[in-house]
Amino acid sequence: MVKYVFVTGGVLSSVGKGIITSSIGKMLQIRGLKVTVIKIDPYVNVDAGTMNPYMHGEVYVTDDGGETDLDLGWYERFLDLNLLMENNLTTGMVYKAVIEKERRGDFLGRCVQIVPHVTNEIKSRIRHVAKHSQADVVLTEVGGTVGDIEGLPFLEAIRQMRLEEGYENTLYVHIALVPILDVTKEMKTKPLQHSVNELRRIGIQPDIIVARCPEMIDNETARKIALFGTIPENAVFCSYTVKSVYQVPLILDDQGMGDFVYKRLGFSNHVQDFKEWKKFVDAIINPEHEVKIALVGKYAGLADSYVSMNEALKHAGAACKTRVCIDYIEAEKFEQNPKDINALDEYDGIFVPYGFGPRGTEGKIMAINFARENNIPFLGICYGFQLAVVEFARYVCGLKDANSTEINPNSPHPVIDLMPEQRGIEIKGATMRLGAHKIIIKPDTIAHKLYKSEEIYERHRHRFEVNLDYMDIFNKNGLVFSGKSTDGKRMEILELPNHFFFFASQFHGEFKSRPEKPDPEYYGFVKACLDKKLDKPKVQF
Ligand code: GLN
Repeated sequence: MVKYVFVTGGVLSSVGKGIITSSIGKMLQIRGLKVTVIKIDPYVNVDAGTMNPYMHGEVYVTDDGGETDLDLGWYERFLDLNLLMENNLTTGMVYKAVIEKERRGDFLGRCVQIVPHVTNEIKSRIRHVAKHSQADVVLTEVGGTVGDIEGLPFLEAIRQMRLEEGYENTLYVHIALVPILDVTKEMKTKPLQHSVNELRRIGIQPDIIVARCPEMIDNETARKIALFGTIPENAVFCSYTVKSVYQVPLILDDQGMGDFVYKRLGFSNHVQDFKEWKKFVDAIINPEHEVKIALVGKYAGLADSYVSMNEALKHAGAACKTRVCIDYIEAEKFEQNPKDINALDEYDGIFVPYGFGPRGTEGKIMAINFARENNIPFLGICYGFQLAVVEFARYVCGLKDANSTEINPNSPHPVIDLMPEQRGIEIKGATMRLGAHKIIIKPDTIAHKLYKSEEIYERHRHRFEVNLDYMDIFNKNGLVFSGKSTDGKRMEILELPNHFFFFASQFHGEFKSRPEKPDPEYYGFVKACLDKKLDKPKVQF
């Protein structure tokens, strides 16, 4: 019998529900259970693919090409899972399916309503994931805060699931903020009490309450939360602020949350082993070295725009016992003050991430140029890869005004061009080249050293690619494409053999990076930054 854990949030969004949900999954996984996670996003978009990362954070990409909420990234990283697009549910997706069924005549003669038609669709999608994943426990996180209009059909659906699945197979976890007042230093539970009341008004009584508080809550606060929440005191936990998010499963487990959830769901006789995870956490919080990286991008104002990249850099750092400090630099700044580019000299590495559209691209090209000419370790991802090709075309091959047609459709040297299958596509949603594709790695290259394999699968999200018309010129000038699609026509990895470390990929290695298994390209980059800083003549992978 599959068990369902439902996670809701109160008071504010962004209280770390994604991390706490992942942590609950981790505590169960560490006890030998197979878990999977669903994220519900109550917005009307069908998926996150059309949303601006500046407002909503990065768009996460799954193996099967889903463009999802970034919380799926946290689930995958914490639980070392490869989730699918079905693990993200949105209002748009659910209504689209219901309306299509209505048009087909599936409900012929009926008036189609939110209850039961929409709620049935939601429940059947949750149950489908349970069946498909064969998990022992399905965690479902409802995005937003209790009381949002958009979230109501989802809360109604999860309310009904207790009736249908039974008390012993369902568990409701409510997470809410407990602020500490500046002046009196008092922990305030009133907003949490209100959000629990709101949840009850909808018909859900939480089984567990997690207080999100800057500090560990005191006994008095825990008692109050239990009393007003109508739960025993040992069902109140606290996610207080820690140095690294990867500590959250450890602090919750220390409070007994893992055992509580495990037993409440009817499991017994577990072994629990956090040893490997603790080793990783220790490497993150007690590093021996430090490197400073300049991330030159277009969404530099919001770190969440690059969350998987940040985490991949941290995972790579942990593997080298190195703290990776990232400065987010707006690429446009270099266009306005070209002399500022020299400030990049202070960094151990330069990183150019993904991006879309012309804004900031010249600044990014300047940063790539600076890295190449000054032998500073460089990693480029997706747009960063494409702009590295543009930089090489302009300044090594002498192709004046070389560009991507995404930036200048009339460039005399369109070294990056729209992929043929993208021509004529006008619909924006889910039409990029998405998801995992096979890549063939060339022997005796840096890529081969890093991936230790001749075949890899990596996730993609792009419309443009390297223009094959320029292949001869690139080859002659020493640019090595060390990873290609299976037909050899799509360039996937580039490297410069004579540089300390100059590496870029069309795909996004960050989506497959895990705490204990750093992604090879990020690992290579961080190791290069460290070795360069330690004045080693060559990188040692
Ligand atoms: N804008 C580029 C493209 O569509 C790069 C995309 C990206 O960086 N994800 O091909």
